[in-house]
Amino acid sequence: MTLLVHDVTLTYPDGDTRLTALDAVRLEVPAGTLAAVVGPSGSGKSSLLAVAATLVTPDSGRVLVAGRDVSLLSAAGKARLRREEIGIVFQQPNLLPSLTAAEQLQVMAHLCGRPARQARSRARELLAAVGLADKADKRPHQLSGGQRQRVNIARALMNEPAVLLVDEPTSALDHERGAAVLDLLVTLTRERSTATVLVTHDHAHLERMDRTAMMRDGRLTCAADGPPAR
Ligand code: ADP
Ligand code: MG
Repeated sequence: MTLLVHDVTLTYPDGDTRLTALDAVRLEVPAGTLAAVVGPSGSGKSSLLAVAATLVTPDSGRVLVAGRDVSLLSAAGKARLRREEIGIVFQQPNLLPSLTAAEQLQVMAHLCGRPARQARSRARELLAAVGLADKADKRPHQLSGGQRQRVNIARALMNEPAVLLVDEPTSALDHERGAAVLDLLVTLTRERSTATVLVTHDHAHLERMDRTAMMRDGRLTCAADGPPAR
């Protein structure tokens, strides 16, 4: 199992008590499959991604990424695991304004100490995979919102992550562009064999997903209208 979230509980301080953001959440995502997590705002979706991304340590439970038990890693070990095995796509692309699309990707390889030449060719290949072969030399202001989100996705794949975590990627896009981005995520998950978790509050397009789970008040359950979250 490439991503395993096992009985994870996460609380935040909330006045005199604690707020339970994740309540014994269990999620297994094999390589090459995409699990969608849907649920209303405030239900715990981003908290789940933060835990899976090793950015937040849960109160209890275990997270395994590419076979590594995150609780056994030092801070430096987690940072390394994130660089090498985890791709994260946030809602807002957060691209660097002065860099071209290709350079946004090459920075990632540079952070991992990979050779620049190899990074250049991989950046071009990934931009082609997300349908932006002809935009490699454009800067963010020369791209549409949908194109920027595609650069964001390509950037997350730059270091060949085993796990791809995607938080509400379509919230700033119209229906049609949102559907195209979701199709792209499904295709990339298959082609690149990532264990992908896609979080959304949007119930549209869920038929494109391998599995759908519902988040409500920190509890993750199988969606009634989709295949079960194993
Ligand atoms: P979603 O992504 O589904 O909107 P979140 O995971 O962001 O939900 O939030 C789940 C709950 O945890 C919410 O009640 C939110 O207010 C609370 N929460 C999220 N992050 C923090 C934090 N850093 N400190 C305290 N409470 C938080
Ligand atoms: Mg959120």
